[in-house]
Amino acid sequence: MKEGILYVVATPIGNLADITLRALEVLKKVDFVICEDTRRTSKLLQYYEIKKRLVSYHQHSKLRKIDWITRQLKNGKEVALVSDAGTPGINDPGGILVNGINKINQETRRKIKIVPIPGSSASTAALSVSGFPCDKFLFLGFLPRKKGRNKLLESLKKEKKVVVLYESCYRVVKTLEELKGVFGKRELCVCRELTKKFESIYRGSFNEVVKRIKEKQKGEFVVIINKL
Ligand code: SAM
Repeated sequence: MKEGILYVVATPIGNLADITLRALEVLKKVDFVICEDTRRTSKLLQYYEIKKRLVSYHQHSKLRKIDWITRQLKNGKEVALVSDAGTPGINDPGGILVNGINKINQETRRKIKIVPIPGSSASTAALSVSGFPCDKFLFLGFLPRKKGRNKLLESLKKEKKVVVLYESCYRVVKTLEELKGVFGKRELCVCRELTKKFESIYRGSFNEVVKRIKEKQKGEFVVIINKL
C-alpha cells in the first residue's frame, strides 16, 4: 500500500496571489484539504478553480476527528493541511495535528510522511520590511491575555534580541502601551494588514506609532521591537 502524505501548505495572509506554484499543485492533487474555516479556504480554492473536499479542523476538534484523519493517512491518502492564513502551525492549530501525527509515527512502523510546502507568514513578511537586524529574533505569537502576562512582560526587560508578536485590533493599543513600559526607548515597527488593500507600516518610537495607530485601529497587526 502506498504511503500516506500530510502536506503542510502555506497559504496567503491577504493577497490571494501570494501562493506558490507548488502549493497549487499540491492542493489540486490531494484527496482532501484539512482547514480551519471552510468558508475561508473555499474562497481561496474557488479563486484558483480547485474543487476539493474540505474537512474542518480547529483547536477544539475532538479526538475522533484526529483519529479519522490519521486513519485516512494510514490508508495511503494524500492530504493537505492549511490554516486560515499563512503557515500552518505558526500560531494556529495546525501544529497540534502535526504533533499528533509525529507521535503516531513514533509508535508505528508504517510512517506517514509530513512534507512542508513553504510560503507566506505574517511574521516573516513583517520582519522582512522592518529593516531591523533579523539574524536573531524572539517570536512570541500572541501575548497571554491574563494569566502569565505580567510575568512574561517583566521577563522581557532582559531581552536584547528583536522581538516579534501578533496582536488583534482590539488589543493592539493596550499591548503597545504595556510594551512601552518594558522596552522604553527602543525602536518599533508595526505592520497592519500586510498584503491587503489597507496595508500600513509604521516605524518610530512607541509614542509616535501608538498615536498613528489610534487614528486607525482596524485590521491585523504584527508588532516588532528593535534589538537593544
Ligand atoms: N499562521 C499565521 C502566520 O503564518 O502568520 C498566523 C495566524 S495567527 C492566528 C493570526 C495573526 O497573525 C493575526 O491576529 C495577526 O496578528 C497576524 N496576521 C495574519 N495576517 C496578517 C496580515 N495580513 N497583516 C498583519 N498581521 C497579520
